Amino acid sequence: MKDIFDNCQFGDLKLKSRVVRTGLWQTQPMGEVYEKYENIAESGVGLIITELISIYPKDKFSEYSLKSNSPQFIIEAKKLAEIAHNHDVPILAQVEFIKYNRGIDWDIDINDLTMADIRQIQSDIIVVAQKLKLAGFDGIQLALGNNFFLSKFINPYFNQRSDDYGGNTFNRMRIVLELVRVMKSNLDFHIGCKVNAFDGRKGGIDAGQSIEICKLLEKVGVDSIQVTKPLSPLYFTKDVSNEDELVEFCQNLIGEVDVPIILGGGFANQNHMNELLNATDIEFLSMYRPFVAQEDFLKSWKESGDGTSRCKMCNNCYRTKTSTCYHY
Ligand code: SF4
Repeated sequence: MKDIFDNCQFGDLKLKSRVVRTGLWQTQPMGEVYEKYENIAESGVGLIITELISIYPKDKFSEYSLKSNSPQFIIEAKKLAEIAHNHDVPILAQVEFIKYNRGIDWDIDINDLTMADIRQIQSDIIVVAQKLKLAGFDGIQLALGNNFFLSKFINPYFNQRSDDYGGNTFNRMRIVLELVRVMKSNLDFHIGCKVNAFDGRKGGIDAGQSIEICKLLEKVGVDSIQVTKPLSPLYFTKDVSNEDELVEFCQNLIGEVDVPIILGGGFANQNHMNELLNATDIEFLSMYRPFVAQEDFLKSWKESGDGTSRCKMCNNCYRTKTSTCYHY
C-alpha cells in the first residue's frame, strides 16, 4: 500500500513523503519567505520546488519574485536551501522566463531568434544552474509547460522555424536537449522538467507528442518530470479541468519512461490522494494552493491520518498573482 507519507526515492534524491510542494508567485519580502519555507519544510513535505525564478532582469513574474541576476540572489538562494536541508527536504528551483531580449530589443519572437540568441539563452540558463548549485540547491526545474518561453518554443503552434530548431518534435526540442546534455555532463545536479500533458490549442501539442517529448528528455538525462496543463483553460477550446485526463496521461507516461513523474492539480484531501496513489502507478503528487492557505497543514494530516485542506480552491491567489491567501 502506498501512502503520501512514505519515505521514498525520487531519482537521486531521498524524500520523506510523496507530497511535492510546488511554488508559483512570490509577493512577500524575503523575511516572510524564509519563515514560510521553515513552516513548509518542517511540515512533512517530501520535496520543495520554489516559486518562479526569473532569468532576465526585465522578466518579473510577481512582486518580490526572485531574480537570478540580482546581487543578493546567491545569498537568498543559499538561505532557502539551508532551511530545506535543515529538515532533510531536497529543494529544486523553478527557473523560467517569459520574454527574451537582446538588450534594447524586447520580446523577440521565437521565430526571429538567431543562432546567437539560442546559444545565449542556453548559456544564460546554465549560468543560473551554476549559481543555484553554488547556493546548495539540489537541482532545477525547467519550465516546458504552462505558457512560458520554452514551452512555446517546443510547441508547433508557435514554432514555425525552418532551421534545425523547428519542424519535427526533435528539432523543436533541440534547444532544450542540448541545454540538458551540457548541464548533465558538467554539473552534479538534479534536472527536472515541467511538461504540459497536452495543449488546448488547435495545432498545439497533443498527448502523444507530449509523451514523445518526455522520452527525448529521459534520453538526455532529465531526472524527473512534472505533468501540468496549459496555463489558463479560458484560452482554450478543450476542457482542461478534468483530473481523469491528467491521471490517464500520467499512467501512459509512466509506462513509457523510467524517471519519477509528479502529477499536480487540485489535490486537497488525504484519502483521495492515497486512493489515487494506490489505484494507479503514480508515486508523487504536487500541491500548491493548500500551502498558500496554510503553510504547515501536512503536520495535522500526518497526525490525524485523514486531512482536508482548508483551501477553498477559489483560485483568487492564482489569478491575482499573490503568494498569500484571500481567506486566511
Ligand atoms: S485564495 Fe483561494 S485558492 Fe488561494 S489559497 Fe486561498 S482559498 Fe485557496
